[in-house]
Amino acid sequence: MSPVIPIHTDSGCSDAPVLRERGQREVFCGLTGIIWLHRKMQDAFFLVVGSRTCAHLVQSAAGVMIFAEPRFATAILDERDLAGLADAQDELDRVVQRLLERRPDIRLLFLVGSCPSEVIKLDLSRAAARLNQRFNPQVRVLNYSGSGIETTFTQGEDACLAALAPELPAAPAPAEPELLIVGTLADVVEDQFSRLLTAMGVKRFAFFPSRRSTALPAVGPNTRLLLAQPFLGDTARALEARGAQRIPAPFPLGAEGSAAWLQAAGAALGLAPDVVSRAIAPARQRAEQALAPHRAALAGRRVFFFPDSQLELPLARFLARELGMELVEVGTPYLHRQHLAEELAWLPAGTALSEGQDVEKQLDRCRAARPDLVVCGLGLANPLEAEGMTTKWSIELVFTPIQGFEQAADLAGLFTRPLHRRQLLAA
Ligand code: SF4
Repeated sequence: MSPVIPIHTDSGCSDAPVLRERGQREVFCGLTGIIWLHRKMQDAFFLVVGSRTCAHLVQSAAGVMIFAEPRFATAILDERDLAGLADAQDELDRVVQRLLERRPDIRLLFLVGSCPSEVIKLDLSRAAARLNQRFNPQVRVLNYSGSGIETTFTQGEDACLAALAPELPAAPAPAEPELLIVGTLADVVEDQFSRLLTAMGVKRFAFFPSRRSTALPAVGPNTRLLLAQPFLGDTARALEARGAQRIPAPFPLGAEGSAAWLQAAGAALGLAPDVVSRAIAPARQRAEQALAPHRAALAGRRVFFFPDSQLELPLARFLARELGMELVEVGTPYLHRQHLAEELAWLPAGTALSEGQDVEKQLDRCRAARPDLVVCGLGLANPLEAEGMTTKWSIELVFTPIQGFEQAADLAGLFTRPLHRRQLLAA
């Protein structure tokens, strides 16, 4: 009798059930995105139209994270009745005029809406159109909302890029396919990807957002868009409306994720898989070697994700497949099935997935499971640490360069460090 070869089939989580919760949530608002967007877009300025709370949030988040001359500010709108709204528009015009006189380096100005009721009553798109007429072409004025109602903090970037998408110049048609990488990446990561794409033989590629608003990439039917971040649903839709075609791919986290992301780009541009493999082999090998000690530290450890950044699924896939961690629950604020199809397929079958949040219920599940590591927002980290759990702030994963081969070990290190620290404390 021939031996029976056991075949392990793992269909991933493509069709897995998802627990949907719509209760109280613990998340930051979309204004937070200004912190990394203003670093990337070097001639842009973000003027938040909001309350003292908004000013405080942006200042305290930015004060901790950045040291450069700020390219953001808050125009504080105090309590006004409807009759005061005309004055508010005039006041906003005056603030913008003063700002642009003082800062001639600004070429792109975002009016960023917030959630206080006085701001919601103010029509910021009208204000942006009026100011644009006045200051264009020297300064382009756009608006988007960073409001905390029904958003997650990464949606601020989505809203900002979706507002900028109609401003991209039209690509001349018909032409060879051109790659457009969409989503804010740290400059160092962008430079590494540029080198890899060049080594693959890709000649026509661009990044959105670009570092300067005077060099926005073109978009059209020949554009093949490759998402670098999983939270850009509206931006992708706006670019698709301009004719761009999205390349289905997992996200470039970890050695495996980065390789598959670049392979997907290569395939969309007509490159043979072995050409891509050869070009990326040294970087991939370095990443795999650098991950080995982290795998030894993390394999078999149990991790629980609270929903916060929308990066949860790609991160969970990386931790499970490349580092051998066990996924207790993977919560995400919003699950975009299309953009995350490849990630879902790569998650181990049977992973508990949840979308949205009912924070008390989720805390109960987490306490009952006693995972080794909890990835969560700042608001939950301290109480959970006080209960003896080890946590990782999910916001740090957005502020830190984590994409690509060279960053794979740094990304793993963000998970090994808190466990190591806990071990030292226990000793
Ligand atoms: S936009 Fe809303 S949630 Fe965000 S800081 Fe301002 S008031 Fe708070």
